Amino acid sequence: GKTIGIIGGGQLGQMMALSAKEMGYKVIVLDPTPACPTAQVCDDQIVAEYDDQKALQELADRSDVLTYEFENVSQEALKDLKDAYVPQGVRLLEITSNRLAEKAFIRDEAQVPVAKFARVESPADLDQAVTEVGLPGILKTVSGGYDGHGQFDLNTAADVEKLKANWPGGVLILEQKIAFTKEVSVMVTRTKQGQLVTWPISENVHQNHILKTCMIPAAITKDLDSQVHEIAKTIADKLDLRGVLGIELFVDQDSNQVWVNELAPRPHNSGHYTIEACNISQFEGHIRSIVGLPIPEIKLHDRAMMVNLLGDELLKARQAFPDHADWHFHDYGKAAVKPGRKMGHLTVVGQPAIEDLSTYFQTI
Ligand code: ATP
Ligand code: MG
Ligand code: MG
Repeated sequence: GKTIGIIGGGQLGQMMALSAKEMGYKVIVLDPTPACPTAQVCDDQIVAEYDDQKALQELADRSDVLTYEFENVSQEALKDLKDAYVPQGVRLLEITSNRLAEKAFIRDEAQVPVAKFARVESPADLDQAVTEVGLPGILKTVSGGYDGHGQFDLNTAADVEKLKANWPGGVLILEQKIAFTKEVSVMVTRTKQGQLVTWPISENVHQNHILKTCMIPAAITKDLDSQVHEIAKTIADKLDLRGVLGIELFVDQDSNQVWVNELAPRPHNSGHYTIEACNISQFEGHIRSIVGLPIPEIKLHDRAMMVNLLGDELLKARQAFPDHADWHFHDYGKAAVKPGRKMGHLTVVGQPAIEDLSTYFQTI
């Protein structure tokens, strides 16, 4: 059988590896942490940093296909590999690892709405950016941010002055703060032959800037639903996409508007529900796309809910689990428990189980 090499050994790599194994592939992961989540479920691990050229070349030599589970892979290192097959490509990383490049791509190439934005590298730039973009805004680091890290809310002129006096440094982006009514996401992939495949839209609730709950299908109008699917297909085509792309969006149900928030060049946390609730999970879809297999039409078996288990919630949910036979419990096997760290998740399918899980999380 063929071997799939995964760069990055977190929970996304783990769930990709589980799908690939079920499909009969061998899997090797490259990650600096021994016994990382992915290493626990795959055939072999190369223990090295993600940008270690020798280790990446070894992974490429031992694999038929390379994939990545996060956007901060070294683009230089990937470009320098000899005889490596990386169907997702490097351009996808160039765009999605940099919020400025990403927003410019969405606005100018895909011609899909995004928040107004401006590049900021100095306190003087910020004044100019505020003039262009307006307040309220959100200032973000251009690269490397996740779970809301490296973001500053700028609601008033006083907030702007405070930030200028306490300058974070680096390349930043000021984004207009969108007055949305809901946050949603959609997963999309594309086969080798260019066939586009989307999964049902998830409605997402965040707590402390971390994704907490997903409800599927999103309770939005038919019109918004089809706008979101069309946006996903447009973006996937413009990217010549291979592998799964996760798209986060804002919707305003009153004005019927949609904006793209950000792109993830890989399966996405809000698509975990697809493992139990769909005929083909986002992870199987990802593997199928990168190895060149066809992908059937996606079907949702029933409505679903996913809850992230952060910090010590995993242990609590594990204790409650025996009483709730319909909960699909996922433990990523991370060694260290930290507050806010994604340790696992729970998915339920069907209305009775959704009510049971909702009740549990209101009372926990
Ligand atoms: P992730 O873990 O999803 O990668 P991140 O650190 O990249 O998170 P964003 O998705 O950019 O962060 O922002 C986190 C959250 O902050 C969003 O889900 C949304 O709730 C809010 N937010 C971000 N940008 C905007 C915006 N321009 N307007 C309104 N709200 C925003
Ligand atoms: Mg992000
Ligand atoms: Mg986000």
